[in-house]
Order: sequence, then C-alpha cells, then structure tokens
Amino acid sequence: MNRRTFITSSALLAAAGTALPSNLLARPAASEATPLDNIRNYKPSMQYRPMGQTGVLVSALSFGMMRPPFLPSGEPDEATFQTMVRHAIDNGLNYIDTSHVYSKGKSQGITGRILQNGYREKVWLATKFPWWQMEKAGDFDRILNQQLEELQTDAIDFYLLHAITIDGWNGAITRFNIPHLIEKAKEQGKIKHMGFSLHAPSPIFKKVLQYTPHWEFCQLQMNYLDVEYEAGLVGIKQAYDRGMGVIAMEPLRGGFLASLPPKAKAILETSPQKYHDVAWAFNYLWDMPEISTVLSGMSAMPHVIDNLTYAKHAAVEMMRPEERKILAQMIQHLRTDYNAVPCTGCNYCRLACPEEVAVAQLMIPWNQYKWNGNMEPAKRRIEFVHGGRYGNGVPACTQCNKCLPACPQGINIPGVLQEIKTTMKI
Ligand code: SF4
Ligand code: SF4
Repeated sequence: MNRRTFITSSALLAAAGTALPSNLLARPAASEATPLDNIRNYKPSMQYRPMGQTGVLVSALSFGMMRPPFLPSGEPDEATFQTMVRHAIDNGLNYIDTSHVYSKGKSQGITGRILQNGYREKVWLATKFPWWQMEKAGDFDRILNQQLEELQTDAIDFYLLHAITIDGWNGAITRFNIPHLIEKAKEQGKIKHMGFSLHAPSPIFKKVLQYTPHWEFCQLQMNYLDVEYEAGLVGIKQAYDRGMGVIAMEPLRGGFLASLPPKAKAILETSPQKYHDVAWAFNYLWDMPEISTVLSGMSAMPHVIDNLTYAKHAAVEMMRPEERKILAQMIQHLRTDYNAVPCTGCNYCRLACPEEVAVAQLMIPWNQYKWNGNMEPAKRRIEFVHGGRYGNGVPACTQCNKCLPACPQGINIPGVLQEIKTTMKI
C-alpha cells in the first residue's frame, strides 16, 4: 500500500461497504531489513517496526498495563500479571505502557516491580503525565520524580502527555506550557522521547501537532471502526509524515472487536484464510506502514499467548485483496445493523463518578445484548456488576451527569444507563 492508497483506503473504509484497495506490495517487515543488534530484546518470533524517526525499533505488539487481572478482593493480581508480562517479554515484546492513574494509581509501582530481575533493560518503558493533576508550577517535577521512583528507573524511554482533551488543551496544558516542561525533562535526561496521547477531535490534534516540533510520537485510538474518530486515519498519516511514531490504542475497542456477533463472524468466515476476530483487528492495523506498534491491554494469559501468535506474522501490507474486501463488508454490516455504544472501557467515567458506577463493565453486556438480542445472560451480567469488584451497577446511578465531561467517546452515559434500566427492568 503506498501513501496514496492508504488515504484512499481511509475514504473507502469510512464509506464502508466498498472494497478496500487491492494492491498488495511485498514490503519486508522491519526485522528483516535492520541489523538485529539495534533491536532491544530481539526474538525471531516477533516483528519490529520503526518508532518514527527515534531510531528505536519497537515490537509490533506492545503491552498496555491498563487492565490487569484482579484478585477476588478487587486488587490487581500482581503475581499473575507478572507471569503474563514476563512471558510476553520472553517472546520478544519490547514496549510496555503504563500511566500515573491506571489501577487507581498503582500501575507504575506494579510495572516497576514486574520489570525487576533484568526485565527493565529488555523493554522500552512508557508512562504518561496526567495534566489534570497540574495545579501549580512545581507539580510537574514532583509527579515525574514520583514516576521515576515507582518505576524504579533513572529515565523513562517514552513519556506522553496523557489523554489530551479539549478542556485540557484549552486549560492546564497550555497554561502551564506542559509540552515545554516535558522538553526540559528530556534535556535533563529524565525522559528519552516525548509524545502525547489524545482523546479530542481532529482540530485539537492539529493544534497539538503544531505546538512544538519536538513531538516524536503519539498514541491514538485506532481500529477498523474508528477510522474517522478523533484524529482518525488522516491524523495518523499527518503524524507519520512529520516523522512521528504512531501507537495504535484501543485496537479492539475495549474488547468488542474480540467477540463479534454471529452475522459478522459469518461474513469473515467467507475468507479463504481463517483468522480469529482479534487477528482481523490487529492485521488491519499492522497492514498500515504508519503504525509503529499495536497496544493491547491484555488481562489474561490466553490473550497474551494468542496475541503473540498473531504478532509473529505482523507485516506492512499483510492483508490480501480479498481479505480487505471481506473486512469492508463486515464493517458495513456492523455499522448499519447494530447500534452499539462506542465504549472503549477506558474507565475515565469511573474516576469521575461519585457513586462509583462501573460503567465500562455495564456497557459490555449491554452491547452484547444489542448484537445478539439475548437479554437474560446480558441482564445477569449487568446485575452481577452491582456492588462487585469493579464498583456499582445501574441502580446506583443518580443521573447527576458528572461523568459526561470525562468520557472521551462523548457517550451519554446517564442516558444509556437509564435505557438499560428501562429495557431490562433493573
Ligand atoms: S450520571 Fe450516573 S454514572 Fe454518571 S457520574 Fe452520575 S451517578 Fe455516576
Ligand atoms: S463510557 Fe466513556 S469514559 Fe466510561 S469507560 Fe466507556 S468510553 Fe470510557
């Protein structure tokens, strides 16, 4: 796929139902064209791709620490998580992504411990600055120093300004000139590469890009249903053309694309080559030269094992013409025949909710009900959430609307919860 056909594919996918571009160029994966000594933690079973112009080659699959497995107590199951993360690293994965706020602020400490015993040196470590915690000038250094301590490292390889929103960009980020503070941290050697993640519409993305020439990478939501969402495919190309690395987050849209409804599966089954739903979603992203790595928030060992298997075959322009056509047909089906809530499971609403409503855990069975029409199992799962390890369920919602500004997907959360209540008689 050349530059022109990439953009063409964006338009075609947005128009869903039209066949994807048919040209399939034989382009070697980075691991075939690059001296292996340059690749941190190289293993023949993993593919590696350039992170923009940083000179770093990252594994095609990267590990998001956002969704650890949990103990019955509701605490992260650190022992299991360690086994999962180290297994991925042992198999060539070399990029680990955490943040200051994941797992209620415990994720960096967990990550730091998991990366002991020589694992830190095998990976590129990423964490993020929470702009919304910036209240006074000294907060940046205080938080960064805490991050270094929790991660048990002298420097963070990839440091992101976390989850830029409209309010954040028009508020604390520019008021405190946080991009400049990150540049200074780089000069001091506390971070190696600077970037950002974003949950804001395209005009804000363009402003962020133009704010400083020093951005080296960005992390954007991308999957085959979100080609026009936020920065979208056009934004990915803009970042790539500036020489930036691009990390694709939410490749499975919070897990929805990992378990497609029967009619959608049936469409994919018409492909001569058979893939799991997850592999279809990953292959769509790996197919693009613009994507440096696909970030997966793996929460169970089978996910790790399966995803590593898919990553063995990751390559630019890996999709066959007939696969592109079939995927486009399936996307058309999903867009027109269902009305799923576009929740990615990011849990920002949970942080904002005074009643601790576990919205993300409610949206999963709700969407499954929309996809398969099976109310009873969905209702059981929805009722099970209430008072459980994730928080409270539908009855706890007071319709206070405090979660609305927190949702990067712009979901009318109280409206959906009310709909669930009415439809399922909860
Ligand atoms: S509207 Fe409901 S879910 Fe949203 S913050 Fe209020 S109580 Fe929580
Ligand atoms: S409703 Fe919005 S904020 Fe809440 S988990 Fe889903 S996408 Fe995230």
